[in-house]
Amino acid sequence: MFFSGFLFNFFSFLKESRREEKYNSNWYNICPSNDRFFEVELPDPNNRNRVCELMVKWYSKHAKQLLEKRLQDWLPQFIRRGAPEPELRFRRMQKRWGSCTKNNVIMLNTELVKAPLQCIDYVIVHELCHLVYPKHDTRFRSLLNRILPDWEKRKARLERVVI
Ligand SMILES: [Zn+2]
Repeated sequence: MFFSGFLFNFFSFLKESRREEKYNSNWYNICPSNDRFFEVELPDPNNRNRVCELMVKWYSKHAKQLLEKRLQDWLPQFIRRGAPEPELRFRRMQKRWGSCTKNNVIMLNTELVKAPLQCIDYVIVHELCHLVYPKHDTRFRSLLNRILPDWEKRKARLERVVI
């Protein structure tokens, strides 16, 4: 199944959050059984479409939780530097990992959870820097260098991840 390629950081996160969930009054239970596979329990396990549908919803929900948590971990450093509180949105994008609008909306690609954690943090910190400096100018770069001195390595690694 196409979910087998996830990297370890996402699985570690998922293991902390395993529990029974309900969807449209039909119960189901999903939990990672090891670092590569999930177990899915539901009343009609032969309904493969239903299993896929549940996995997509469940994956997307947990991907958002992971990204939101990483953003919240980095945010205080930026608030201290005068950044406004951003609004976080998610979208599955083909070409971009993230963006930040002039209205302080940070958009993150949910596919980002397939990347190593250090790359996820790079994208998040980059977008958070835009809350302080909208353009890629020298002030932007010096802030990014201060907060994430090895950002270029992280960026290079991220470029090897296929969406
Ligand atoms: Zn940028």
